[in-house]
Amino acid sequence: MSSPDPIYESIILGSGPAGLTAAIYTGRSRCCPILIHGHQPGGQLTTTTAVDNYPGFPQGVDGPELMENMRLQAERFGTQFVEGKVTRVELGERPFRLWVDDQLYRCLTLIIATGASPRLLGLGTEEALYGHGVSVCATCDGFFYRDKEVVVVGGGDTAVEEAVFLTRFAKRVTMVHRRDELRATPVLAQRVFANDRIAFRWDTVVSEILTDQAGVTGVRLKNLKTGEEENFACAGVFIAIGHQPNSALFKGQLDFDKDGYIQTRNGTETSVPGVFAAGDVQDPIFRQAITAAGTGCMAAIQAERFLDDLPSEAQLSCQKGICTEQ
Ligand code: NAP
Repeated sequence: MSSPDPIYESIILGSGPAGLTAAIYTGRSRCCPILIHGHQPGGQLTTTTAVDNYPGFPQGVDGPELMENMRLQAERFGTQFVEGKVTRVELGERPFRLWVDDQLYRCLTLIIATGASPRLLGLGTEEALYGHGVSVCATCDGFFYRDKEVVVVGGGDTAVEEAVFLTRFAKRVTMVHRRDELRATPVLAQRVFANDRIAFRWDTVVSEILTDQAGVTGVRLKNLKTGEEENFACAGVFIAIGHQPNSALFKGQLDFDKDGYIQTRNGTETSVPGVFAAGDVQDPIFRQAITAAGTGCMAAIQAERFLDDLPSEAQLSCQKGICTEQ
């Protein structure tokens, strides 16, 4: 029996650099992917003011502008954008099924580029201060803190890497950690202990971010052992208390690593053939716009090859990215 519902050749989830690059490549090679995104499209780059390290922009580029340009490029190659929340996926058999709000979508390949969200301190003010003294990415924003005093919150591998990186610019970096020993692996921890431009506040949390009209002026620190509080002057606060991959939707259906990142191999293949993952949802290490875009490109090429190799007994007739059952 034929079904009236179309089956799309490719659906892409997420509209950051990984998802949009996947859409550009898919649209250009096969036509018309569906890209599903949430109510605030563009991913983490939309919270960054200036992106200085994306190749091709010698003067830097605004994060939102970069994402808008990627979106226009994806549109040019026929991407159809669907706004909504994916509430459920079924990847047990092809066509894969997903529900956007209540609407069912079916597809032969799925590219997951749902990203990761930085964990925040929960002070309520952090997100509003992105680009005005609060950052979750030293590689992106460290440059703006030349000769300034900055604080890094956290004690894991990311925090120590951010602290060491920031000493290239900042006058002094103070690591604020809630315990009296680092979680970071010893080889990385040694680098902060050996760096005389990094100071420590142990057993300490940031209880408030202090601001004036121009942005951050300092933090209020609270020592958890003594209860003492103090105002600490700084121009930048780098929050490095971990990331949360946006992978919950796929739990139990795809293989994850111990931290909930989707496991990939041979590029962007997941544990389910035909499902590919790109960008931060599968990358706990690099987390850069350019690496996300790179894996988005890989996912599109791998999805295309997967479609090329699909056996024809699928009984589908496909045109312009949309298939119908015969
Ligand atoms: P992480 O290992 O989870 O460390 C998070 C740090 O933030 C911990 O020190 C934690 O304190 C602290 N923290 C968490 N919530 C907090 C809160 N609400 N307030 C204050 N502090 C808080 O995260 P990560 O450093 O981003 O690393 C994630 C994963 O990526 C790890 O597996 C790591 O090894 C890996 N990674 C590897 C590299 C590398 O190999 N070069 C680089 C970066 C990341 P506690 O210690 O008290 O829990």
